[in-house]
Amino acid sequence: MSRLKCPVCGEKLDNNKKSYVCPKGHSFDISSKGYVNLLLSSQMNAKLPGDNKMMVSARADFLSKGYYSHLADEVSSVAANSFSGGVILDAGCGEGYYTEKIYNALTKKSVSFDMIGIDISKFACARAARRFREADNCEIAAASIFHLPVEDDSCSCIVTMFAPFCREEFFRVLKSGGSLIMAIPAEEHLINLKSAVYDEPYKNHTADYSVEGFDFLGSHRVSREIFIDDPVDIQSLFSMTPYYYKTGREGHERLEKLTSLRDMADFEVLVYRKKAV
Ligand SMILES: [Zn+2]
Repeated sequence: MSRLKCPVCGEKLDNNKKSYVCPKGHSFDISSKGYVNLLLSSQMNAKLPGDNKMMVSARADFLSKGYYSHLADEVSSVAANSFSGGVILDAGCGEGYYTEKIYNALTKKSVSFDMIGIDISKFACARAARRFREADNCEIAAASIFHLPVEDDSCSCIVTMFAPFCREEFFRVLKSGGSLIMAIPAEEHLINLKSAVYDEPYKNHTADYSVEGFDFLGSHRVSREIFIDDPVDIQSLFSMTPYYYKTGREGHERLEKLTSLRDMADFEVLVYRKKAV
């Protein structure tokens, strides 16, 4: 059984361990890495959409060192507290660092659940699937957040960590009363990194938390100082940020000169509940 639906016709998919098949005969192979590719070529804006292999690998290495473990702990605990069973979706799961922490927290809580991790990058999905080889209640699928291969009103919880936000799709797949948990960078996040690269660094500002169709239940500030004394980790961190693509050569050169960095890993975890319809 699968919690996913056919991206072509929308019928429920069945997982026979080798492939996913819908009643109309559309079939999707499970890759040797353990994820299913449900991304239709019409939904792809590039031949290999999403993070490339180098970026996925850099992020996986960086996160595995625990720099953001305080955020992983908080998100896992918020998810475990707001979830009492059913389907939980990690929308934009990346290489599965947070997915796995949340999965472990829910397993520890002994609730009955199925987890879905979705990311548009096949490289990210391959990494994420590796973490769940032995888990028959977790499926990893390559798909777009803007076309989730997930049935209407089927999820009790969605977690989204720095991924693109698609209100319509999140609203569609969540049950009434289901929770939406989202992490965003807070004001002081990586302010020293930004100061090193830019002449006039700006702080992150969140002016309005409201999301149509959802009640905002509150936010948790999660921050701590991190110290990085490995230039490779500093580069990995920078490649994870949106600034990476916006920074000119001068900024990159400044960054390459940094041998250590003391900075704030400052986040907000926002919690919403889907209004009854
Ligand atoms: Zn189908």
